[in-house]
Amino acid sequence: MDLTYQRETAYKCQHVHVHSVTQSFPSRALSFVEDSTQERHLLRVKGADCEIAHSSSRKNLHISARLMEEFLELAKENTDKDLETCGILGAFLDKGILYVTTLIIPKQESTSNSCVAKNEEEVFAIQHERSLIPVGWIHTHPSQSCFMSSVDLHTQYSYQVMEPEAFAIVMAPTDASRNYGIFRLSEPGGMNVLRECRERGFHTHGETADGGPIYEHCANVYTNSNLRFEVFDLRQ
Ligand SMILES: [Zn+2]
Ligand SMILES: [Zn+2]
Repeated sequence: MDLTYQRETAYKCQHVHVHSVTQSFPSRALSFVEDSTQERHLLRVKGADCEIAHSSSRKNLHISARLMEEFLELAKENTDKDLETCGILGAFLDKGILYVTTLIIPKQESTSNSCVAKNEEEVFAIQHERSLIPVGWIHTHPSQSCFMSSVDLHTQYSYQVMEPEAFAIVMAPTDASRNYGIFRLSEPGGMNVLRECRERGFHTHGETADGGPIYEHCANVYTNSNLRFEVFDLRQ
């Protein structure tokens, strides 16, 4: 999947304003409901090399590749200035599958290696209004490689402790080997390490009890080219 900048995406994004909605419909305006013809539009996300016993009990998640491209485009101004950008993902559940249908870009303050959402009540209001599950977050690493920093792990913990299915997408446009990754804390190993950790800022984490990795690639996330989505950019 190519997540590089696309002009078509850029055009759509020029019309995003506070509380306005960019709705992207595929040519065949399929709803989120599964049907048999949709199968061939699904791509398992690469890097799903950490299939562990627990992943079989996870719900499958579908996300639009275009949502990630559009996020990258909305982040471009920051990325060019070596500043991170973060967004929050909302999903709904249908027949046991979680569909990521909403990207909310909150007001935020960022540096080259951090991003903090402000006025989060605006995000909660949108999610509540639409009965969305806060299924994860997405952020850029404008100059760093594609990995989860210790600060990212603490942010991910706060999502995953509330919603066990929650995941983190890291978009790293300058990482030649991997320009994006979809991660979650391992369970119970990584979750236990983060639950006990009282440090803040950038720091190193000890080993998990079973010696496994603290975080892993999500094996249950699929990109779905027929999934429509909405973008709320609350920054202006
Ligand atoms: Zn990060
Ligand atoms: Zn820590």
